[in-house]
Amino acid sequence: MKETISKKYISRNSLPDKNGRFGPYGGSYVPETLYYPLKELEEAYHEAKNDKGFASELNMLLKEFAGRPTELYYAQQLSDKIGGAKIFLKREDLLHTGAHKINNALGQALLAKRMGKKRIIAETGAGQHGIATASVCARFGFECKIYMGAEDMRRQALNVFKMRLSGAEVQGVEAGSKTLKEAINEAMRDWVTNVRNTHYILGSALGAHPYPGMVRDFHKIIGEETKRQFVEKTGGLPDEMIACVGGGSNAIGFFHDFLEESEVKLIGVEAGGRSLEDGDHAARFEGGKLGVLQGCRTWILQNKDGQINPTHSVSAGLDYAAIGPEHAYYRDKGRIDFAHASDEDAMNAFKTLSSEEGILPALETSHGLAYAFKRASQLSKEHTICVNLSGRGDKDAMEAARIMGVKGLPSMTLK
Ligand SMILES: *Cc1c(COP(=O)(O)O)cnc(C)c1O
Repeated sequence: MKETISKKYISRNSLPDKNGRFGPYGGSYVPETLYYPLKELEEAYHEAKNDKGFASELNMLLKEFAGRPTELYYAQQLSDKIGGAKIFLKREDLLHTGAHKINNALGQALLAKRMGKKRIIAETGAGQHGIATASVCARFGFECKIYMGAEDMRRQALNVFKMRLSGAEVQGVEAGSKTLKEAINEAMRDWVTNVRNTHYILGSALGAHPYPGMVRDFHKIIGEETKRQFVEKTGGLPDEMIACVGGGSNAIGFFHDFLEESEVKLIGVEAGGRSLEDGDHAARFEGGKLGVLQGCRTWILQNKDGQINPTHSVSAGLDYAAIGPEHAYYRDKGRIDFAHASDEDAMNAFKTLSSEEGILPALETSHGLAYAFKRASQLSKEHTICVNLSGRGDKDAMEAARIMGVKGLPSMTLK
């Protein structure tokens, strides 16, 4: 366990640079029609960030609407069962709408209000970001339209229903593989057409500048709370911090306040899927190459002609061909390490946390847990590991039951 918090300043806060870059990553690779909307957003965010009124309104919403601060929980039964390092869980699963996504949805909604926008659009994969956005739009009285791949709508019918209950229009996207990537394309098209009255709430630390840095900022409260709580509970900092990485928003939010704490090991866990063959996984640092997707230069799963490979993961939230640019940057610097966990490892971790602690984790989160269990078993009980429990598993219970071969489940389809 670490004794002190070092006070080193502060390269992390100077990223991205003024062109939106994290070293060679990030930037803004968009058609001309999106150049001005992104500039307008960048300027509005810059002003908001320096406005105490904005911060205090956001903090009030994070507390009273979303349920912050979330707890830091020592998982003693689990740690004893694994028989190595002590495992702590940062309980983002306890937030309103079930995952960390509400932090970003609230931040961007408040920004949209400030910019005088009346209408919100967003993409969603599994539906978590769609539900957070729909909920926040109901709270603010925004008109709300969510783009979702037709295949994802089929897999996540209950989430479609929940978004509609909150007053959102959910638009199915039939193009391509009918999943998240196509939903983002469609949302960008809508934004170009309706930018005067519309803000696009992008759901991860991805896309064109200013999104990756802005989304990170709205989530960095996760790591700030963790640091304070960990010191209160243990008198020091964790030895290792582990989070799952889809686009990378929960992980960068969790890690950001620890980037200068060089004794704390930071590990991001990608989706290893069925295998590391092309099309079977979403581990961008395993099978990926440098490229540009949806406005951002980063590591991408693509074929030799630069066409995007299909991806697979048991968890829809990790199932995307690109990784957030800041992760690529800190991987190059040797500051954040990356690992992957398979579908099967994640399913096992899902069952283990449920049975040992009575906490059902999201399948995304279960990837981080799977790797944490492996690390914990290699360390002694003087060591500590803190895992970001990015979301709860209620949304995945049906899918888990199906994979586990449970018979007689109801089915539901919405158009
Ligand atoms: C969306 C989601 C993720 C993946 O997104 P990141 O931007 O990588 O955090 C992880 N966990 C949960 C619970 C999610 O809903």
